[in-house]
Amino acid sequence: MRVGIAGAGIGGVTLAHALAAQGHDVTVWERDAAAEDTAGYRLHLPQVALDALVRTVPSATLAAVRATAAPPGTFARLSVLDHHGRTRLRIPLPPEERLLIGRRPLRAVLADGLPVRWGTRVTGYAEHPDRVEVHLADGSRGHVDLLVGADGTRSRVAHGLLGRPPSRSTGVVAIGGTAPLYPGARVRVPDALHHGLALAVGPGGHGVFLALHRPAPGAADVPGARPEGPYVVWSVGNRVDRFTADPADMTTDELLAEARHALAAWDRGYRRFVDASDPGTVASFPFVLPSSSVPPPTSGRVTLLGDAIHPMPPTAGEGAATAVRDAAALADALAAVGTAPSAAALAAALASYGRAMAAYAPAAVREALPALRWQRRLASPWLRVPATAVGLPLAGAALAAADRVRRGASSA
Ligand SMILES: Cc1cc2nc3c(=O)[nH]c(=O)nc-3n(C[C@H](O)[C@H](O)[C@H](O)COP(=O)(O)OP(=O)(O)OC[C@H]3O[C@@H](n4cnc5c(N)ncnc54)[C@H](O)[C@@H]3O)c2cc1C
Repeated sequence: MRVGIAGAGIGGVTLAHALAAQGHDVTVWERDAAAEDTAGYRLHLPQVALDALVRTVPSATLAAVRATAAPPGTFARLSVLDHHGRTRLRIPLPPEERLLIGRRPLRAVLADGLPVRWGTRVTGYAEHPDRVEVHLADGSRGHVDLLVGADGTRSRVAHGLLGRPPSRSTGVVAIGGTAPLYPGARVRVPDALHHGLALAVGPGGHGVFLALHRPAPGAADVPGARPEGPYVVWSVGNRVDRFTADPADMTTDELLAEARHALAAWDRGYRRFVDASDPGTVASFPFVLPSSSVPPPTSGRVTLLGDAIHPMPPTAGEGAATAVRDAAALADALAAVGTAPSAAALAAALASYGRAMAAYAPAAVREALPALRWQRRLASPWLRVPATAVGLPLAGAALAAADRVRRGASSA
């Protein structure tokens, strides 16, 4: 079967591996000019996503992905800091196998050797009973039996299928970047980052996210691996109206100036991450949610995966993981109907994929919501001040008591 995939993002390239292995004739259209030509920082792939990758990508690719990731043990807890840089709360994270990996190298490793047509933008499609005609920005057409929209939060394919864009704004946006750590860099890495992630909420209601990304020793020797770092990932998020203008419309210099302005009343250590940033990594990220029901109403020959159908804010770190799970679920559904399915069998396979997705994707979107709500609420000092002055100490005491009970139970 001829399968066209719009978008060589994390979900699209994972699906391409699985379908090529099943013997399908796969074409991937990607608007970026090259695999490395993308933005993004460290992504989180939990155990379920690793299981999905094991089922979909060749073992050599998986080995390169693992070697590209940060070593295990760097995700032991979430620390809540105040704007002076003091740790106010430590929340242990459940131990499980997970990968922490840069979005850019992950995409590059996964795309290696795949039939991707880089620099080719999909503008729309027309579905016929026996095929799908895919419209490309250069005026040419592709003809496939199945079209998969893996083209992210502004998916053209989703627009065609749903009749509207797949995502809607949450009114929250973040400015982020990475500060490379080289000998002599004027960046002090807070102790909390050696054990996991750190979050802080402070003046102006801005929420800061910090993480340290350090490649595993010897990673560069693994064939195909593309370790990057070390660097500190930082982001400053808030409601759009709490910035001086919409960060989506700002240049890199304006984003850096806006981040410094947002952190003006914070400890200088926070602003040092901004000052030390690699300008090429600085970007704004609007937080979005699905505009439609998940899973999508698939047609007979067109379906969607990843952010094209369930865009979610990065607050739960589930976006890439859910896209990878979609790719595995769709590949499983197609494996059941072989390489030359009838139109009815193909439609049934897509419906079966939709049912599989319904078991996990809406839950992943929901998981991102509480942190998003808090980000919106903490923009107001009426909530932020009591939450940090009273709520954090109370939460700390509750966690310490729970820890004492657990230790007591395990030593009894
Ligand atoms: C630039 C960028 C940076 C990100 N950074 C982070 C991050 O730091 N942390 C985090 O947790 N999440 C980040 N995300 C989100 C995370 O990568 C996604 O949630 C996750 O990868 C979902 O995978 P996906 O395959 O559905 O979509 P994506 O990985 O977003 O892939 C979609 C792909 O489709 C391509 N595309 C879009 N429109 C077209 C078109 N018309 N024709 C052809 N190709 C098209 C895009 O260029 C992209 O390569 C980022 C996403 C992007 C796009």
